[in-house]
Amino acid sequence: MPNSVLIINCGSSSIKFALLLKDQNFRIHGLAENLGTPEARIKGVTLGNEPVDIKIPNADHKEALEVGLSRLANHKPDAIGHRIVHGGTLTQAELITDDIIDKIRQATPLAPLHNPAHLVGIEATKRLFPDLPQVAVFDTAFHQTMPAHAYRYAVPKFLYTEHNVRRYGFHGTSHAYVSDRGSELAGSFKQGGWLTAHLGNGSSTCAIWNGQSVDTSMGLTPLEGLVMGTRSGDVDPSLHRFLEANLGWDIYKIDKMLNSQSGLLGLSNLSNDMRTLIEASEQGNEDATLAIEVFCYRLAKSLASLSCGLPRVDGLFFTGGIGENSAYIREKTLGYLPHFGFNLSVEANNNLKRGTEGRIDAGTGPQIWVVPTDEEGRIAKETEHVVAELTTTKKTEQDAVVA
Ligand code: ADP
Repeated sequence: MPNSVLIINCGSSSIKFALLLKDQNFRIHGLAENLGTPEARIKGVTLGNEPVDIKIPNADHKEALEVGLSRLANHKPDAIGHRIVHGGTLTQAELITDDIIDKIRQATPLAPLHNPAHLVGIEATKRLFPDLPQVAVFDTAFHQTMPAHAYRYAVPKFLYTEHNVRRYGFHGTSHAYVSDRGSELAGSFKQGGWLTAHLGNGSSTCAIWNGQSVDTSMGLTPLEGLVMGTRSGDVDPSLHRFLEANLGWDIYKIDKMLNSQSGLLGLSNLSNDMRTLIEASEQGNEDATLAIEVFCYRLAKSLASLSCGLPRVDGLFFTGGIGENSAYIREKTLGYLPHFGFNLSVEANNNLKRGTEGRIDAGTGPQIWVVPTDEEGRIAKETEHVVAELTTTKKTEQDAVVA
């Protein structure tokens, strides 16, 4: 079993990395940003909790990883786990082989910004640590248990059969961790029907039955579903036609608007950040107030519709920066779901401390919990699992040769 796992989350111009040291129950974090530009730098903390800020002008992914990882001094990882946004139809974490690299490449049309960056990260860590096992952990994998009636779009069949057009879902690592941990806290580990609301800059909901995803709000891409920081979530698909016909916008401009200029930012014309909007709303900003209301209403609507995937609703888990920290958003959202019998304890909701797990219902109706997410921990666990299986397989093969 690996003792220290390096988690890599590689974006097009940034890399988040974390080293999880199991024996010391400690994590070292780093962020390399603005890669490929004169402003490239690494920020993070060392093992001694010292802040780090290093300028690495024009550094690429490999250089940034080299510099960042050299700060880990004696703590060489035993295994590496890569967060991969799109795994196509892969259903679980996989040891990175040439075949898996091909599959990640094949899924690139479905995640054109993310998957190429992940491949750069894999290439860089392979060169830096040629002897270490490397594992790909996919955001989409947890949702591969969705039934066809949840993942198919009502468009011509060949788009699915020949071009893989379907709903995939994202944030799978978070929904999996939170539903496992939450159901464990509730005394029914991986049993029953649960809804999860992951609310951060990107937000999504998920319905989980006996530990498996049965539906989720994101679709072919992470644009579908809820109102997010800068993403619109669901809109009428004919909006594209309207904007083209009336404003002369091309598809790239429309895509950019829906991904980067919409959501809370678009509605408020102020910020994508929920804290800023709550403060502005308290000071009487009507656009901020409306943005918050649309966010909560659409979230409640999504939870209500996902409940159709569950034979019964045992409870709801909130997570992500907004879900974990904002009692106000949790209360407002549940205010739109009175017919589900949710009975929030206003006191427990308001008293829950930042970053802590806790139950916030009044003891009747479906349970309501706040469960801080731990995507890094989950990626490390899945990486350990794949490496342990590999070790067992190798040992069985060796034993067979000896016998
Ligand atoms: P990411 O999706 O980038 O990981 P996070 O999960 O960190 O993002 O969530 C970021 C969001 O959480 C921001 O909108 C931020 O304003 C919001 N947030 C953090 N703390 C609070 C708080 N106390 N009240 C309301 N929103 C909060």
